[in-house]
Amino acid sequence: MAESNFVDYVKIYCRSGKGGRGSVHMHRAKYMPNGGPDGGNGGRGGHVILRGNRNYWTLLHLRYERHVFAGHGGNGGKAKSTGADGEDRYIDVPCGTVVYNAETGKYICDVKEHGQEVVLLKGGRGGLGNWEFRTATRQAPKFAQPGEPMREMLVILELKLLADVGLVGFPNAGKSTLLSALSSAKPKIGNYPFTTLEPSLGIVPYRDNQSFVMADIPGIIEGASEGKGLGLRFLRHIERNSLLLFMVPGDTDDIQHEYEVLLNELATFNPEMLDKQRVLAITKCDLLDDELVQWLEETLPQDLPHVFISAVTGQGLQQLKDLLWVAMNSESNKLHDIQSERIVHKDKDVSYLQYELTDLGEDEDLRHWGEEPEEDDLELDWDDSEEPEEVEWDDVEDLEDFEYEDPEDSEESK
Ligand code: GDP
Ligand code: MG
Repeated sequence: MAESNFVDYVKIYCRSGKGGRGSVHMHRAKYMPNGGPDGGNGGRGGHVILRGNRNYWTLLHLRYERHVFAGHGGNGGKAKSTGADGEDRYIDVPCGTVVYNAETGKYICDVKEHGQEVVLLKGGRGGLGNWEFRTATRQAPKFAQPGEPMREMLVILELKLLADVGLVGFPNAGKSTLLSALSSAKPKIGNYPFTTLEPSLGIVPYRDNQSFVMADIPGIIEGASEGKGLGLRFLRHIERNSLLLFMVPGDTDDIQHEYEVLLNELATFNPEMLDKQRVLAITKCDLLDDELVQWLEETLPQDLPHVFISAVTGQGLQQLKDLLWVAMNSESNKLHDIQSERIVHKDKDVSYLQYELTDLGEDEDLRHWGEEPEEDDLELDWDDSEEPEEVEWDDVEDLEDFEYEDPEDSEESK
């Protein structure tokens, strides 16, 4: 799968910028020997920000950019000048990208909409310059705060495609054929299992210039949810579909049984899959005669609508589209409902994580920790609240534990 252009899983290393150091500087001017402190604050380190972008359909572009570094904040300077903020780095991802911590498997966030921005790693705050520490009793503080350290993380980005209808069926059920019959998508079709190695999406035109999106995903076989076959990798792409179209060929011995096996697979993968609406299509009906169809009719599961179709002759296709359209637009089944709170992203199982990374060729060691954060950067225990607070005398006492810059050197600390 390494050569495929369909990339739905990447591991990348991200690092935000560290905050600039506050400056220790004394104002000097002719005839003004004690001009007082005027060291400025350090700038904020750059954030690493995820941004939804509808022009991307896969994560392919990230394969070639696996290290994302935001810029460091500039140090404060004399004359109260504040250091420049570090450059923020944006990672553009297709809508429907879910982000996990690659080491713990923890779910981090979900980028669903075009233009949506999520700050993945905050840049470090800049340290305060000595100007900020002047008080009535300490008129020439010879110290300043270091900037907050940078943050780093290995993340897994996983794409979960968004489609209105997801096709569910064993290999050879006719899924790819149906998609190519209904849309202009051209998936590979063949009379052997696993011709579909990557999911494809097709836009299905409907009456009055309307349309819906259908996703063909590789066949699932029994045990797919336990990692057999190709199915598991792709099952997640239908996690978000509002509607599932089950497809079972008409010449199957026991259609009801096959449908139940499929259903069971989905349930094992994620029980919430069963909350979606379902429609059953009995495919390849050109191979059946009317008498057989009538007989089959009796044996079908009663709890969902069904339709007999043939992607080859076109039989039943309009009826199928009508059925899908009605189900899709029923009040209880709007895609946005499913997108919003109903999908709960589970954390990844850590014991499975390494297997998954290896399986997808994403396990190369990306650890590239770059320059070590400086000792004193790490010692300062900032709390995670918003802006640095106004510094009180007591706080300043605490800061004395740190290594202060010698005012004589402060010229360089610009
Ligand atoms: P998939 O694995 O579910 O994507 O199945 P494919 O679409 O690749 O189809 C598998 C085989 O069934 C191919 O040889 C198709 O030509 C054949 N097939 C698909 N739909 C029909 C149909 O409606 N009638 C007949 N006779 N054959 C079909
Ligand atoms: Mg196929």
